[in-house]
Amino acid sequence: MSTIQTVGIIGAGTMGNGIAQACAARGIQVVMVDINEAAVQRGLATVAGSLDRLIKKEKISAADKDAALALITTSTDYAALTGAQLVIEAATENEALKVKILQQLDALLAPEVIVATNTSSISITKLAAATQRADRFIGMHFFNPVPMMALVEIIRGLQTSDATHDAVKALSERLGKSPITVKNAPGFVVNRILVPMINEAFFVLAEGLATPEDIDAGMKLGCNQPIGPLALADMIGLDVCLAVMEVYVNEFADSKYRPAPLLKEMVAAGWLGRKSGRGVYRY
Ligand code: NAD
Repeated sequence: MSTIQTVGIIGAGTMGNGIAQACAARGIQVVMVDINEAAVQRGLATVAGSLDRLIKKEKISAADKDAALALITTSTDYAALTGAQLVIEAATENEALKVKILQQLDALLAPEVIVATNTSSISITKLAAATQRADRFIGMHFFNPVPMMALVEIIRGLQTSDATHDAVKALSERLGKSPITVKNAPGFVVNRILVPMINEAFFVLAEGLATPEDIDAGMKLGCNQPIGPLALADMIGLDVCLAVMEVYVNEFADSKYRPAPLLKEMVAAGWLGRKSGRGVYRY
């Protein structure tokens, strides 16, 4: 498998433009594709803004910014991706959409090209099976904001080859990330542990064991977490946390993933967290 010199990215949104920045900052050529010119320009502007903040913090120079931006080309046509050795799909989280995109890529890209998906919740094994290159298909789960967050979960579908895994792991390290290798399963590793912990915090709150502030202070000070689980739930969105628990309880058919009734109540009330002005806390 040839070294990865050019990375194609599908989707110029939050994750796509973050991945583009992370690649370009390490001297890797990027082709970023979205559905229309406005979307790619928004993505590009986000990268430029993020690089400007790094200049202000004196982490990079103006020349570094120009060099990174010069490595990113954009298009609204998937044909622009044919020069890439790896294409990372970071489009909207929708299974039917992703299958359609992956099948289009499959028809277009040379057989040796690796295709990765940044999905948070869809089975890598299932998406791989929708392509003709299941052994060259893999999950690359980046964390938001991509340029800041060190972790990449590399998710092997049942069909993923060792060569594909090794190439994607090497690339993640070239991006300055610390990858972990995970077998495909709902929530992968981080969200599998994180979201049930948040759910448990809602049980603890409902049982009246402590105030929200004390529950959050306990986990911050006792476990060195940067933010307490209830404040984090408000950031993520209570509806998102509930949806993830519902996936686990259905997929594993195990009642240990039962969503906390208080979490369900708050979602039913429209108390979704920061985005709705009220969750566990008021904003
Ligand atoms: P987003 O809504 O910010 O961006 C998605 C982009 O995909 C949009 O710009 C949209 O126009 C584009 N798109 C839609 N259909 C397309 C198509 N057919 N071809 C090309 N582009 C298309 O979403 P996001 O937050 O960047 O999420 C992208 C993926 O990353 C999802 O699978 C999500 O689950 C995953 N993810 C998100 C986060 C996060 O914190 N936001 C973290 C990890 C993983």
